[in-house]
Amino acid sequence: MWSPGAGGRRRSEPAPFRAGPGRGTLDGQYHAAVAPANDLAELARQAAVCVRCPLAEQRTQVVFGVGAPDADLVFVGEAPGRDEDLQGEPFVGRSGKLLDRLMAEELGIDRSRCYIANVVKCRPPDNRDPRPDEIASCRPYLSAQLELIRPKVVVTLGNFATKLLLQTDQGITKVRGQAYPMGEFHLVPTYHPAAALRSGGVVVAEMRADLVRAKLLLGWGS
Ligand code: URA
Repeated sequence: MWSPGAGGRRRSEPAPFRAGPGRGTLDGQYHAAVAPANDLAELARQAAVCVRCPLAEQRTQVVFGVGAPDADLVFVGEAPGRDEDLQGEPFVGRSGKLLDRLMAEELGIDRSRCYIANVVKCRPPDNRDPRPDEIASCRPYLSAQLELIRPKVVVTLGNFATKLLLQTDQGITKVRGQAYPMGEFHLVPTYHPAAALRSGGVVVAEMRADLVRAKLLLGWGS
């Protein structure tokens, strides 16, 4: 099992995540590429009619992502909840309000200066965890989003995004606290804002520290 160490990968570690359409494998399954898209708008049109997994049956709409198409910073969450499913935008509920606040206070930006997406683009019923087959079906969209945006830093929010993009089974508590070079970008794992809302003080403070880590990698000041 891969154990993240200070700043690098050993030869026996799993291949780094490479953003790009067509590299959608997870748990040994192959999931077809999304059709090549020239830009996010084209990819979003494809996603809007997606029926790759059973989540399509119960969604109100696909929650593709929001923000600057050339953002240096991308946040990746887990899956849309009820508010996001209704509004069609990621992180618009309570978790999103906290994310917006931490973004403003630690990075000095609002969501128009970054890009926000989820591992899974459709709401799992009753906000249950997304299932491995749903994550695998949706992964090509996230890969293609990162390929098109080409961010410098990706902040993963919680276990699902972190495990998927860092290709690790280790939980967020173990892996957070450092950045991981992933080839095209640096990955900064942090807690999901919902965990911070549940746990409060220490977790919020650690999220703030992780955002400062992202800020330094972006060269946005001390
Ligand atoms: N939680 C997520 O992971 N994503 C959202 O968009 C909203 C809540």
